[in-house]
Amino acid sequence: MKTERWSVDKDVDKNKSYPQIKEAASFLHKNEVVAFPTETVYGLGANAKSDEAVAKIFAAKGRPADNPLIVHISSTSQLQDIVASIPEKARKLMDHFWPGPLTIIFQKKQGAVSDLVTAGLDTVALRMPDHPIALELISTSGLPLAAPSANRSGKPSPTAAEHVANDLMGKIAGILDGGPTGVGVESTVIDCTGTTPIILRPGGVSKEEIESIIYQVEVDSSLKNQEQKPKSPGMKYKHYAPAAPLFLADGEPEWLQTVINEKRNQGLKVGVMASSETASDYDADMILDCGSKANLNEVAHSLYHVLRAFDEAQLDIIFSETFPETGVGAAIMNRLDKAAGHNWIRQKARP
Ligand code: AMP
Ligand code: MG
Repeated sequence: MKTERWSVDKDVDKNKSYPQIKEAASFLHKNEVVAFPTETVYGLGANAKSDEAVAKIFAAKGRPADNPLIVHISSTSQLQDIVASIPEKARKLMDHFWPGPLTIIFQKKQGAVSDLVTAGLDTVALRMPDHPIALELISTSGLPLAAPSANRSGKPSPTAAEHVANDLMGKIAGILDGGPTGVGVESTVIDCTGTTPIILRPGGVSKEEIESIIYQVEVDSSLKNQEQKPKSPGMKYKHYAPAAPLFLADGEPEWLQTVINEKRNQGLKVGVMASSETASDYDADMILDCGSKANLNEVAHSLYHVLRAFDEAQLDIIFSETFPETGVGAAIMNRLDKAAGHNWIRQKARP
């Protein structure tokens, strides 16, 4: 299929009309799928009410059918049609963090969205993205949009239209190009259907920020213990992986350099993902700086771009430094651990 590409200035003016966004919305009404920028990563949107449209998302991404999708809305009035009830704590979170990178799980209203969206669950995930183009596309179409990240399943999420094109050209109706995304990692997913809200996936809004609004929040125990079944179906899949095997290296740069030297002596091409503080300490075939350990927002912003950039060199193995797990660092380390398939090497054995 031909994939249209429309460029739109990120700062859309609500009082103007954008033919590119109108055209993208008309494709959505024809039950086609269209990629669009959000403040986290690029999304692959389709009419959440249509089985035909939603099936096309799963087909284009190669996404397993048991991994439910997040529904994107542009106003809280759309929420009433989709959810059975709005718990008090969910309302507080919406008031504070929407529009923004927080996805909330609600009990769903039966029949409100395609069963493919929710993968047969009786709950539904919703978010209002904080990006003028995303909001304009949703409101112009008048549809709730089911939208996972616009990458092939298993690959790093796209933080630029170019990444979407690399993965999905010819497989989707169009791409709205609004430039690079901001946050760089996906939304935080929080389940508000029980008494105490539970974070199912760390993301753009940190646990600390959530606690400052609702005081008590749990973290799904499967995030720390791989033996346990995650409450969010998507969390069980390997994800975000570059082409070459990735290992997380927990130790000093001098030690990691000895490991790199060993691999290179075996004739392997080695990549290193390092912080700005330490990138110049390494000697390897490709060294990518993903930002300062003292500014984790910078690391989140460049994480997927860097993981994809390794694919441009034919590497045999990649090592990544680790990052503090505070604030958005929890999301960074969650994505890196998944990209590495939970493979770590450590300078010192843990007690
Ligand atoms: P993605 O669309 O790739 O950002 O992934 C969406 C994430 O939200 C996945 O981890 C899904 O499993 C999760 N998710 C979506 N809907 C639900 C739901 N109803 N209950 C629990 N997790 C959900
Ligand atoms: Mg994804």
